[in-house]
Amino acid sequence: MLSSPVKKDSWQQRKIKWDEIDRYMQGSRDFIDDHALFEALAINPSPDPVRIREIIAKSLAIETLTIDEAADLLNVSDPELLAEMEAAAGRIKKKVYDNRIVTFAPLYLSNLCVNNCRYCGFRRENKGIKRLTLSMGDIRRETEVLCGDIGHKRLIVVYGEHPVSDIDYMVNSIDTIYGVTVPTRRGCGQIRRVNVNAAPLCIEDMKRLHAVGIGTFQVFQETYHHATYARMHPKNTIKGNYQWRLYCMHRAYEAGVDDFGIGALFGLADWRFEVLGLLAHAHELERAVGIGPHTISFPRLEPAENTPFIQDTRLRVAEADFRKAITVLRLAVPYTGMILTARESAETRRKLLPLGITQVDASSRIGVGAYANGEADVQDNRQQFLLGDTRSLDAVIRQLAEMGTITSFCTAGYRCGRTGKRIMDLLRSGKEGRFCKLNAVLTYREWIDDFATPETAAAAEPVIQSEIAAIGREQPEVLRLFMDYYRRIQAGERDLYF
Ligand code: SF4
Repeated sequence: MLSSPVKKDSWQQRKIKWDEIDRYMQGSRDFIDDHALFEALAINPSPDPVRIREIIAKSLAIETLTIDEAADLLNVSDPELLAEMEAAAGRIKKKVYDNRIVTFAPLYLSNLCVNNCRYCGFRRENKGIKRLTLSMGDIRRETEVLCGDIGHKRLIVVYGEHPVSDIDYMVNSIDTIYGVTVPTRRGCGQIRRVNVNAAPLCIEDMKRLHAVGIGTFQVFQETYHHATYARMHPKNTIKGNYQWRLYCMHRAYEAGVDDFGIGALFGLADWRFEVLGLLAHAHELERAVGIGPHTISFPRLEPAENTPFIQDTRLRVAEADFRKAITVLRLAVPYTGMILTARESAETRRKLLPLGITQVDASSRIGVGAYANGEADVQDNRQQFLLGDTRSLDAVIRQLAEMGTITSFCTAGYRCGRTGKRIMDLLRSGKEGRFCKLNAVLTYREWIDDFATPETAAAAEPVIQSEIAAIGREQPEVLRLFMDYYRRIQAGERDLYF
């Protein structure tokens, strides 16, 4: 058992269940071997192009890469080979996720936190931030704006780690969100999938989240590098326990939650190491529970109010390196969803989308209470960091439509039991795309009819027609039923799905 420097009998001390770490460890070690990951990067600094092309072929067959293979991809510097890797990343995305991007919004419910992470605006020692926890009435109002004015169907709800936002609060808030229905132009708006970004929980608490019907459970390790982790997360905090965080998806699985969202905060340690850390985490989940991550996130550190560490860091990931990190992740874990958030600027997001991104947020506000009580484009001292892309969902959807991409609001997968191993198998075999295409068009139609400006509706129409034509070609057996659903949605019915 590891020892804890957190004061005995405190709320913090009780949060960590030591036996829910020890049971997953192999001896006294966790599954991240820092030395082995650096060795993998050092062993083959100039990989042979023939080997790189073999690795690309393996990715295109939707097979997870080994650490050595991913390290070799990270060591590629030849522009021609890099271009081949990027092209393959785009092809993999098309093969697994077809021609669509899923969209969502973050909803911050509380910015109180007992931890003290050096890079975060919410850290407890930051006195320059206005602390807030939303009441259930506030949450209802935030949700009404999100699903009634903007048109979101999926949220990622974000909680700090604090007694005021404990498991009871989490369960009540998610129930509240699912309970909101708002009339719209032609139908009604509601949130149909609540994903959760929270501190690691024990198995008992995870069971309660599962029972309330969450989608993905998302916890970022922040950095997989042990020494950096220890430097960034003071020992006398819950988050100072690396393994409690590292094994939270193992606990989630035991509790019945099988959609895992993993991530690293790029800019804390060597970015190439973080790519291998994420891959090692995917391997471990595949080994231990038979299911890899449903999504991988790779936020880059951004400035935050009154948080000087971020301005000082010399590990900021340059644009070219970030491109390579995303490309290698896409190739290394070809079945996973890849999330590129509005931390990045609109221009950066436009350039990176073709590398295999599957999910983006839009109309995002990350101040607590900022949807109902904030002005558009205003960022203030209620938030964790500063956003790079503050465009509206309408503007993002229009841009995607102009790129020939359909925006999907589909939430059918988890409601039809297509989660965990089932969805992994469907994604690997390319079969999930069949459902997703149908549901993407149906939910896109809903959104266009309920929320789009005339310019966005005009840009979306050719995309819809081309997708319907593709359904007719590729799935003629369902076209009739699909068109029945489609016309019913045009007539104002909502939430029909396959
Ligand atoms: S990163 Fe998370 S845990 Fe750390 S201070 Fe910020 S909100 Fe709290």
